[in-house]
Amino acid sequence: MLSTMHDGPLSIARILAQGTGPHGSSEVVTWTGAEPRRRSYAEVGRRVAQLAHALRQLGVTGDQRVATFMWNNAEHLETYLAVPSMGAVLHTLNIRLFPEQITYIADHAEDHVVVVDGSLLPLFGKILPTLSTVRHVIVANGDASALEAPAGVQVHDYDQLLRGHPDTFDWPEVDEHAAAAMCYTSGTTGNPKGVVYSHRSIWLHSMQVCMSDGMGLAQSDRGLAVVPMFHAMSWGLPYAALMVGASLVMPDRFLQPEPLVRMLSTLHPTMAAAVPTIWQGVLQHLDADPQDISALREVVVGGSACPPSLMRSFQERYGVPVLHAWGMTETSPLGSVARPPAAATGEAQWPYRESQGRLSSAVEARLIGEGGTEQPWDGKSVGELEVRGPWVASSYYRDDDPDKFDDGWLRTGDVGTLSPDGFLRLTDRAKDVIKSGGEWISSVELENQIVAHPAVAEAMVVGVPDEKWDERPLAAVVLLDGQQADAAELREFLTGRVAKWQVPDHWAFLAEAPKTSVGKYDKKHLRKQHAEGGLDIKHA
Ligand code: ADP
Repeated sequence: MLSTMHDGPLSIARILAQGTGPHGSSEVVTWTGAEPRRRSYAEVGRRVAQLAHALRQLGVTGDQRVATFMWNNAEHLETYLAVPSMGAVLHTLNIRLFPEQITYIADHAEDHVVVVDGSLLPLFGKILPTLSTVRHVIVANGDASALEAPAGVQVHDYDQLLRGHPDTFDWPEVDEHAAAAMCYTSGTTGNPKGVVYSHRSIWLHSMQVCMSDGMGLAQSDRGLAVVPMFHAMSWGLPYAALMVGASLVMPDRFLQPEPLVRMLSTLHPTMAAAVPTIWQGVLQHLDADPQDISALREVVVGGSACPPSLMRSFQERYGVPVLHAWGMTETSPLGSVARPPAAATGEAQWPYRESQGRLSSAVEARLIGEGGTEQPWDGKSVGELEVRGPWVASSYYRDDDPDKFDDGWLRTGDVGTLSPDGFLRLTDRAKDVIKSGGEWISSVELENQIVAHPAVAEAMVVGVPDEKWDERPLAAVVLLDGQQADAAELREFLTGRVAKWQVPDHWAFLAEAPKTSVGKYDKKHLRKQHAEGGLDIKHA
């Protein structure tokens, strides 16, 4: 028997209509370093229609790709809304990748148009001549005449392009399974891989972002989206915000702790999302120069394991709870969030909050142990996490990767346990686990313990080759300004916190930790530095 329900598609155009119509008085606020730029969602809606007309005039039809090379700001949000609503495909380019990777990705996706931030023109200008499918470049917030166009490419000014077009658009009806947006993984091995989200997957994922047991984004919120719109779609915040009418605060290119703290204290966002290294910097800045950030009801942290000491410091010193979440570009990205069960109160909440949380009901999971056997959810048995679900990729765009997918299941590359009550606890990424004398050492656990030392700002741990043990941990540490600690003291600090044989014997003290294009610790880089003899290693 079929249902009696209407079968209309779940589309981005519906999210746009709701966000810019009934929620037209909500707003997107873009930080500029001086007076912030405010734009109501009603105005965003009018400009989105104008942008869609302009893109049609440039010849964008069907599922052509319109890429962005942008910071988080109002114009990026408008492009997010216009492109999928008109049936085309949004492609967010990661501005921090190596130029050759950007060229590979834009060519692989066959981007036809690129919307670029004026402040990024010096960088983009070097890449543009290498792009083989781009025919139009639209410059937002900058001087389009500063860009030299190669033959066959036209350059336009964003605002001028919109001018004169009608501020309504007859949005086409799309198939909800059709592509709406795409994002490439940063490709730790081989070339980057394209993940293509559908209108339906974005809809369902947005609802999860808004569920109270998800990120709980609501109309009453003002979300500070620190996580870039090119990093797994800013974790779903832009579409979810329009879906429920939550306002957005966009940091543009001002991603250092000082401006972020000013945004928190003057624009009063109620929630904010970023990777742990960002929150680490914000916390240090707040400690040096305390500000009132009490408008925040919660901050979301994910992308890599959040050190428990960081979560506790935020809560204890500033009264702001930190919500730990797990996900991947391939999972849209929200897979799980660490909200403790109601029965856990006080100190008993922490083991739950420090975990990667419970997977959403739409995300099925299994743990695959060595030898390919499925492991029980007993909180002890370790395996690689595999997931599947309506907002989880089951293949890459025009790229076979049999190692990553198994009959519809995504092999996450993350290793850990699942408890009987569904809490995921990741020990490490499979490729970062340190194999020492036949035993496994979790690099994440060591990092969490080292960063708990009061003199330590940041800690990263990798396995380095060892003749006797195969691999031994190397800890690279950044100390807090004005603080002192040497290898012997840090070793001593770890005693009793981790097993004796796990304590690192190689230590390096760095001025700055190497980070990836999305602000995670760049362990590949650290291993390379070590292999090339570029680190001043101390042995305690
Ligand atoms: P990249 O591979 O460039 O880091 P993603 O942002 O898609 O790209 O990374 C997804 C990976 O990030 C996950 O597979 C996992 O290893 C890690 N990750 C994300 N959230 C967490 C978390 N809360 N705790 C531990 N690891 C996390």
